[in-house]
Amino acid sequence: MPRKVRILVNEDKCYLCGGCAGVCPALAIRVGSKWEFSGDKCISCMICVKACPVGALTAEEVSG
Ligand code: SF4
Ligand code: SF4
Repeated sequence: MPRKVRILVNEDKCYLCGGCAGVCPALAIRVGSKWEFSGDKCISCMICVKACPVGALTAEEVSG
């Protein structure tokens, strides 16, 4: 069973390019004037973490 993760953004690195939102298959990230994550939509695939060009995203495991 896949682990459930929460995606966290480092706002000092993120320059709001929207790349992570563009590759997320679950539409769990929105990038406008700020970066927003919807944990209820996220399927914990980690694609966004790998896609960010500046390494601004990290995944934190959530229990339950
Ligand atoms: S882990 Fe996958 S589903 Fe969750 S926000 Fe990142 S790309 Fe989207
Ligand atoms: S891909 Fe990285 S820099 Fe671009 S919006 Fe997402 S977190 Fe920010």
